[in-house]
Amino acid sequence: MNAGTIYAPSTGGGPAGIAVIRVSGPGSGPALQRLTGAAPPPPRRATLVGFHDPDSGEALDRGLVLWFPAPASFTGEDMVELHVHGGRAVMDGILAALGRCPGLRPAEAGDFTRRAFANGKMDLTAAEGLADLIGAETAAQRKQALRQMQGELGRVYDSWRRRLLTALAHMEAAIDFSDEELPDGILERVREDADGLDGEIAAHLRDGRRGERLRDGLHIAIIGPPNAGKSSLLNLLARRDAAIVSAAAGTTRDVIEVHLDLGGYPVVVADTAGLRDGGDAVDREGVRRARARAREAELKLAVFDGETWPERDAETERLVDCDTVVVVNKSDLGLPAGPLEVNGRPALPVSALTGDGIDGLLRALETEMAARCPAGAAPSLTRARHRQALEECRAALSRCRDAGQVELAAEDLRLAVRSLGRITGRVDVDDILDVIFQDFCIGK
Ligand code: GDP
Repeated sequence: MNAGTIYAPSTGGGPAGIAVIRVSGPGSGPALQRLTGAAPPPPRRATLVGFHDPDSGEALDRGLVLWFPAPASFTGEDMVELHVHGGRAVMDGILAALGRCPGLRPAEAGDFTRRAFANGKMDLTAAEGLADLIGAETAAQRKQALRQMQGELGRVYDSWRRRLLTALAHMEAAIDFSDEELPDGILERVREDADGLDGEIAAHLRDGRRGERLRDGLHIAIIGPPNAGKSSLLNLLARRDAAIVSAAAGTTRDVIEVHLDLGGYPVVVADTAGLRDGGDAVDREGVRRARARAREAELKLAVFDGETWPERDAETERLVDCDTVVVVNKSDLGLPAGPLEVNGRPALPVSALTGDGIDGLLRALETEMAARCPAGAAPSLTRARHRQALEECRAALSRCRDAGQVELAAEDLRLAVRSLGRITGRVDVDDILDVIFQDFCIGK
């Protein structure tokens, strides 16, 4: 991390009523003084000031400043927030003036949060939660990111780490002192503790990738025979023309993806080529991709053609399982009365043409998603790196259990502690910091 004082706009680009510029580091107070001609105001109190170019004295804007002396600031350093008018020339003028202050440099992506981490203001999982909160597009994503930013996940990993550290301390005591000075069965107890924790980590890992799903979006594949109305349904779901709707069979040869917010859950809906045999090489490739999508998707939306119902496509029918929501489209053309079903799964009559039954379909999709990402459940891991570190921890615990000598068992326990420490950043993690903070934009 580069030292010095950094500055950057913290609000988005484009003209706006107000824009916020943040400055962090020892040069913050002097920079404020240069731009306003006055000493910093009382801490954390919004104060109206005039901003001037320090060299020419020309007026740049009038706005509010907030002064956060170290350590009670986001980064833990001296910080200043300038609330100026969010116009292009105002921003350019203020940023240029800051750039001419001694020791100040523009911030790089994630610089502010990285300083907050370096100064112990937040652990790595909280920093990741903050990045997710800024990137959250749906309500469920926001909820999960906020919980992680407030330390819910970090607290779980820290408590596990403390338990292992206690076990390690007992084990080291067993190595340092002779048997008779130690209470009986201490090593057995350490092994029991390690076993118990291993079970808890295993349960945490068996969460069906809930947190990662919520972060990245749940994948839904629309499958069905050509002309059943798959593209029309996707268009209706997306309320925009994302897929080609055409009367000619087999127009969707590739996979078209649309990111949607369905009832607060982020989903990636993929429209696939109609399942059918024959056709040219491009058709066959489209069908191959459709089948692959159907296999990989966490949820399938099987669309049957109501025009031919109850005659139905055999391959689509074979793919209907408990991870499938089934619809019979073109209900406007008339469908037999009474409940419909495919493979024992209820089928909803819908019409992509008139919109009939779409609300029911949306409710069915939301129910399936809520079941896969239950709200208010225990904190869930949200990144592959968490999963990897936890798996390393379990591997070390398992070696510890099987180790014949207490010295070797202690070394494995030490490695297990280290794996957990890497998730929250309690141990040296220089190698992963760049990766994590690159997720941020400048000014965060
Ligand atoms: P895909 O090949 O499964 O993606 O099907 P499309 O969405 O391209 O639709 C095929 C044809 O069916 C088009 O002519 C659509 O206008 C028509 N179609 C789609 N949905 C409905 C519906 O609900 N009712 C009727 N009557 N026609 C529909």
